[in-house]
Amino acid sequence: MSDERQHPYTYNFNAGPAKVPQEVLRIAQDEFIYYRNSGISVMEMSHRSVEFEAIINDAEKLLRELLNIPENYKVLFAHGGGTGQFASIPLNLAQAGDVVNYAITGTWSEKAAKEAEKYLKVNRVTTKPEKFITIQPQSTWNIDPAGKYLFYTDNETIHGIEYQVPVTPVPGMPLVFDMTSNFLTRPVNVSNYGAIIAGTQKNAGVAGLAIIIVRDDLIGKPQTICPSILDYKVLNANRSLYNTPATYSIYMCKLYLQWIKDQGGLEEMARRAKIRSSLIYNVIDQSNGFYVNVIDPATRSRVNAVFRVGGPTGDAELEKRFLEEAAKRNFVGVKGHRSVGGIRISMFNACPVKDAEVVAEFLKEFMKNNQK
Ligand SMILES: *Cc1c(COP(=O)(O)O)cnc(C)c1O
Repeated sequence: MSDERQHPYTYNFNAGPAKVPQEVLRIAQDEFIYYRNSGISVMEMSHRSVEFEAIINDAEKLLRELLNIPENYKVLFAHGGGTGQFASIPLNLAQAGDVVNYAITGTWSEKAAKEAEKYLKVNRVTTKPEKFITIQPQSTWNIDPAGKYLFYTDNETIHGIEYQVPVTPVPGMPLVFDMTSNFLTRPVNVSNYGAIIAGTQKNAGVAGLAIIIVRDDLIGKPQTICPSILDYKVLNANRSLYNTPATYSIYMCKLYLQWIKDQGGLEEMARRAKIRSSLIYNVIDQSNGFYVNVIDPATRSRVNAVFRVGGPTGDAELEKRFLEEAAKRNFVGVKGHRSVGGIRISMFNACPVKDAEVVAEFLKEFMKNNQK
């Protein structure tokens, strides 16, 4: 289906909040003022109404279907995004004084570790690199066997680093991972994990919502200081309706999940992610150093392609021109994160393969016109 929102079409490569499928926005538009036969908007209805109950139940059902979530796992919807979960995990899965293990692969995992340090002793299992360009192999990790869990970030959104081999679970130590930026972009064996956390604004909806998939035996032992809205036991006992949840974000998430299912599910999302990122990396690799991606090819992200223009540390003049030309093509969100610079093309679930093809063509053309 063509995207008719704007003329001409805007290529949205924002890193989050990110593009939402056109079909999802159309349904939301149709149901915006009057949700079906309720006579009111989703934003105006009680979170305890029959209509909203059906929305949140459908969202959970769809997620369970897409990820094939085993019955002994609970699905929780919470406020606070991914960052809220950086606090929720240590507050729910360990007690004051406990040690926990964190694999640091970039900005997001470091943020998660810093937050956990407010409550627990954090053991960083990886050595501090000069620059984040790869994932240190798990065989080299210094895992504290007393650790209450092992945490990692599946995709580092800012650096463009992603695990392409799943972390092997350590017996007796729940594996916890942040999947915010590659959530639902490939199948996952949920039973390998103690908990999976994700904010929905990149791959599964809009801002304001976090999803937690947690093994039920890990629920119910929060630290005494754990705030109620971060407490998995409270969320679970109240079926994510302890306080007013982010009702509209849950509704948007439901529509997005239905769209993923209609498109062919996670295998199809994975297929598209691979094609999109390969299109970009192929041009970079064949550019004779005009474009440079410093990430170890075995750990390159399928959703955030991060690169420099004109050399390994970028040519300021060329990158400025690149951004100007990209803006003329109606590309949005392609400037790299301020902490790493350069260019970043974010291609989450809603990004059509066609949009990556257009970027690849643009990369070739820009190189042709600007090569010295
Ligand atoms: C965006 C992001 C977050 C933070 O999400 P918020 O909802 O803004 O708190 C956490 N982890 C990863 C990997 C992210 O990409």
